[in-house]
Amino acid sequence: MDNLAPLFMSDFDYSFSHRHQVQNFEDADVFAKAREFQTILKTSRDMGFYPYFQPIQENLGPEALVRGRKVVMLGSNNYLGLTTHPEVRKAAIEAIKHHGTSMTGSRLLNGTHEEHEAFEREIAEFLGKPAALVFTTGYQANLGVITSLADSETVVFLDKLNHASLFDAVKMSGARPVFFKHNDVDDLRRVLAQCSPKKAKLVAVDGVFSMEGEICPLPQIVTLCREFNARLAVDDAHALGILGDRGQGTSAHFGITDKVDLIIATFSKSWASTGGYVAGDKDIIDYIKHHGRSMIFSASITPPNLAAARAALRVMIKEPERIAQVARNAHKLKRGLMQMGWDVGPTETPIIPVTIGNDLTTLMLWKDLLEAGVYVNPVIYPAVEPDKAMLRLSTIATHTEAHLDTALEAFQAVGERYGLLPKNAINASR
Ligand code: PMP
Repeated sequence: MDNLAPLFMSDFDYSFSHRHQVQNFEDADVFAKAREFQTILKTSRDMGFYPYFQPIQENLGPEALVRGRKVVMLGSNNYLGLTTHPEVRKAAIEAIKHHGTSMTGSRLLNGTHEEHEAFEREIAEFLGKPAALVFTTGYQANLGVITSLADSETVVFLDKLNHASLFDAVKMSGARPVFFKHNDVDDLRRVLAQCSPKKAKLVAVDGVFSMEGEICPLPQIVTLCREFNARLAVDDAHALGILGDRGQGTSAHFGITDKVDLIIATFSKSWASTGGYVAGDKDIIDYIKHHGRSMIFSASITPPNLAAARAALRVMIKEPERIAQVARNAHKLKRGLMQMGWDVGPTETPIIPVTIGNDLTTLMLWKDLLEAGVYVNPVIYPAVEPDKAMLRLSTIATHTEAHLDTALEAFQAVGERYGLLPKNAINASR
């Protein structure tokens, strides 16, 4: 399977040079690697193990229509189940009726609608921060924040398992990246202590890690940032709608919103749309607004996307039971998998990583689960360390008990088929 590695490049792979690990192309033609990549693609497709870009025929929230059959969707980030909520759909449709399909321009010039500014005020108030700024995607939010604030005089401290957009942003900014061990505050202290006090410092972490489902130790990170005079940015993509009493995210979960300089998140998960935001002090937000190239040189979020996210925020506040329900669903699924003997790791959120180990076994399980009507995401080397391949599952508030039972039965069946379950484990699917 080694030769398939280029197919499965990770979100997390910081090194651009890894992207095409194709060997032996002496040809100076920039297309040469693409031609060679075709061979790799064909091999994986012929083997039936190509898991990416699966066309979804109908996206129904907790279920989806794939290859002509209904499957239980355990591979989406639609945590609160709002992509099909009547109020969210209606808001997007009404926005098209009133404001058209696009602003056809950047926020800086013709692309700012008063709805953008109204939503920014709502987001700031919801999070308890003085100001917020809306971007076209969460990826662009991270790029805009880091590239406007960090430069060659800055050192950015990054958890090794942060999202790719933070790594890409640091690379684009020209700042020096310094990595610390995942969720390891002692290691963060070590690298901060090694850095010259004269350097401007920024610590950037994911609030909830997208593959592992773990929460970052934010209170200890805040303390270290104060001690070493570093600013702190938290990417709350997977914490929004999940953590905090009203779903505000990691800082609210720990009750330290005032101590976190910048909170960044995306609309593409709990808020059922695409887009993103950064929230913080007014002067800093104003600076990012005028210097974030991913904002200035790209068209603004479209009216229907903005309206959908805004409606999702309102529904989330109005129907807080969704936040509790997605956690209950995750608990049931996690407990069932653990009882069968699967290794689900220390997740604390609706993200459930099932570690399988071997890449090929992981792809075989992915394929069998899909055929059994369960959609999960395979994550293999180099997205994860060698022999740490996993299936990433995530629950949705609108999954029913029956959906989760179907998933557990399928996991029991594939586990038995491949001899992966301990003999004395409880069969939670029966
Ligand atoms: N940060 C994290 C932690 C993410 O998981 C993602 C999406 N995978 C992003 C940022 C980028 O968000 P978007 O999809 O809105 O570009």
